[in-house]
Amino acid sequence: MQTFIYEAQIPRVIFGSGTMSRIAEEVTRLGASRAIVLSTPGRGKQLAAAVADQLGGICVAALATAVMHAPVQVSERAVDTVRETGADAIVAVGGGSTTGLAKAIALRTQLPQIILPTTYAGSEMTAVLGETADGRKITRKSPYMRAKTVIYDIDLSLDVPASVSVSSAMNAIAHGVEALYARDGNPVISNLAEDGIRSLVHALPPIMRDLTDRTARWEAMYGAFLCGAALGATTMGLQHKLAHILGGAFNLPHAETHSVLLPHVVAFNAPATPLAMQRLSRAIGEPDPAQALYALARRLDAPRSLKELGMPENGVDLAVQQAIVDPYDNPVPVEPASLRDLVRKAWSGATPYSS
Ligand code: NAD
Repeated sequence: MQTFIYEAQIPRVIFGSGTMSRIAEEVTRLGASRAIVLSTPGRGKQLAAAVADQLGGICVAALATAVMHAPVQVSERAVDTVRETGADAIVAVGGGSTTGLAKAIALRTQLPQIILPTTYAGSEMTAVLGETADGRKITRKSPYMRAKTVIYDIDLSLDVPASVSVSSAMNAIAHGVEALYARDGNPVISNLAEDGIRSLVHALPPIMRDLTDRTARWEAMYGAFLCGAALGATTMGLQHKLAHILGGAFNLPHAETHSVLLPHVVAFNAPATPLAMQRLSRAIGEPDPAQALYALARRLDAPRSLKELGMPENGVDLAVQQAIVDPYDNPVPVEPASLRDLVRKAWSGATPYSS
């Protein structure tokens, strides 16, 4: 008999195959006529060119400068370009790094964003940005960073490499997990999270067999949408806090770091979250979610240690010190000794219940 508040806060969502073709119509729908298109360099730039093509004369610039962890200098340079070109809408095509740049610009200019996600990062559903300056990742929250429209086009995900597909999907599962036990969660959000995790876990093995499996790509993107929406409606806990600290301090790859941490944080929080664990077990189809997530990462060839991601051994203490400084929401109180044990296991790649 839980009492709860539910306030829907998700953007307009267009989901399917070939949906990118609606981009010009969606920009116009926002009352805008001068869009800047954002992407990462490399393959991202080609995607941006395809989007710019669809936009025709509405596209005033394309900027392929997005990088991971949203460094402030990159965002400030992008804002200069936005001002010089007189852009009145932001269009981002790519993974969470590109969405991060869109949010950073929106935070500073209040321009509307349309996001076309290609990975499963789920950032397009949140009004949160982790931006880095001087080796620290600072969390920003603002309603201006909430996208106006998200266009999920599974065709844009078909050539996302296997490693990015798996790690960004594990990142999305981590969103769903933290939403399941968030202090401000509710049954509606838990249903989204559970269904999202189930979809992602189910879709990953076929994607690894065939990256162009459209049914599995549809299911994974749908799962990422649901888990992102669940994260966007709740407060993050230890999993996200640690991932931010490690990303900021050691420049570790974001999604891979989430993937390594996830089984350990689940094992850490399991004793205080029986209902969340019940839902998680149901979604994964295994009785022990922490072990199952560790085994899933192994089966999918995802990284399982922070060591292999480049974190030095003496970084364990630094991470613990930083994580203890600001108190934050987590079902199990975070104490230095227990946290050190968790980070140490994640660093070495041990299984979640090893001693
Ligand atoms: P990413 O955006 O860095 O993309 C990973 C790689 O995949 C890049 O090299 C990119 O060019 C490539 N790629 C993307 N789409 C492709 C395609 N269609 N074809 C080929 N290659 C493609 O990684 P990510 O995991 O999507 O996002 C990580 C970033 O997102 C981090 O900076 C993280 O902080 C942020 N994030 C934020 C939130 C939030 O709510 N604020 C949530 C999740 C992630």
